[in-house]
Amino acid sequence: MDSCLFCRIIAGEIPGDFVLQEDDVVAFRDINPKAPVHVLVVPRMHVSSVSELARTSPAILAAMADAAQRIADAETGGHFRWIFNTGENAGQTVFHVHGHVLGGGTLGWSPA
Ligand code: AMP
Ligand code: ZN
Repeated sequence: MDSCLFCRIIAGEIPGDFVLQEDDVVAFRDINPKAPVHVLVVPRMHVSSVSELARTSPAILAAMADAAQRIADAETGGHFRWIFNTGENAGQTVFHVHGHVLGGGTLGWSPA
């Protein structure tokens, strides 16, 4: 997808501050961090939403969860929040699925 920001970061056309690059999944730091640790976990495959990924490639979603935990283990003592904004009204701005890994210190707002 030539027009997709995250496809271009994955392809190396736009710089990314990568924390991991694996066969199916990469992770790079969010350019506008909302927590002391804010990393985006992204499949190499271009899929727009987490539900589409779960339906078509559940093993890749599982690999993303495993990557998120390893990033948190390395950077936040294993504690993290994992957010998928899904749809414009929920705040999704990049339509290449990504899980926000947020952690470090004590996170403030929580849905529960
Ligand atoms: P979302 O709003 O859930 O679609 O998340 C998109 C995220 O991508 C936002 O948190 C942005 O700060 C982040 N972002 C936008 N451009 C870049 C970039 N070039 N490198 C890293 N993160 C980015
Ligand atoms: Zn893409």
